[in-house]
Amino acid sequence: MKAVSLLYHDVVEPGRFEASGFRGPDADVYKLTTGEFRRHLSALAGALRSAPRRVWELEADRESGLPVLLTFDDGGASAFLVVAPLLAELGWKAHFFVTTDYIGQPGFLSAEEIRALSRLGHVLGSHSASHPPAMSRCTAQQLAQEWTRSTEALGAILGQPVAAASVPAGFYSRAVAEAAARAGIRFLFTSEPVVRAWTVGGCLALGRFGLQQGVTPERAAALVSGRMAPRLRSYAFWNAKKLVKAAGGEHWLRLRLWLLARRGQRRPPPHSGAR
Ligand SMILES: [Zn+2]
Repeated sequence: MKAVSLLYHDVVEPGRFEASGFRGPDADVYKLTTGEFRRHLSALAGALRSAPRRVWELEADRESGLPVLLTFDDGGASAFLVVAPLLAELGWKAHFFVTTDYIGQPGFLSAEEIRALSRLGHVLGSHSASHPPAMSRCTAQQLAQEWTRSTEALGAILGQPVAAASVPAGFYSRAVAEAAARAGIRFLFTSEPVVRAWTVGGCLALGRFGLQQGVTPERAAALVSGRMAPRLRSYAFWNAKKLVKAAGGEHWLRLRLWLLARRGQRRPPPHSGAR
């Protein structure tokens, strides 16, 4: 099975980073401005032959080429206040992954907003309970707790089992997926920039292409186009980045801040990562 999944985070007014989601320079880099996000949606609308799909629609969808899925991580307040109204203008549905320990906190979705998003036809899923900085380094017990606690909290709000989730900060590992499968998660979105899905313990794992602040609308459109080259460039960049991430969180943060500083002077890096 193949699909192009795009990964966004919060959408805020210029400079209002604190309005939605996690705070700090490391989180802000993933937040698009409302104008920027509108331009992304226009570019995507121009490039797509059909509306983005929900993950459970993929099975029935094999005839229509490469399906596209929109996903939004972290559970910031902008999902309901900004993103959903803009998607409604296009009649599009998306996936919102909620960090459940933060539900109702300033800048994050409330339980009522989560239910409203679900009623609008969007897919609500877990983005872990506490957003561990490096989930792939968690113990088996911690992984079980993160997925179970978050799916139970979200399931209680929605009144139905939670079948979808996304991995925080791009720290995917097979153990992360196996723990998700044991918690009843059937669809797990990672940050691996690939279109081919894979199965782990009965859970379908999907790649995603991250789109952060400063990434052009044309690039978003290119990722969902039939052409492979833009996606391969993302893949090469992601794998180089992963080596740095593997070397340690401290180095990774330093690289991120260095990239941020550079962006003040030059064009943004060609690919975004994930928080
Ligand atoms: Zn996240």
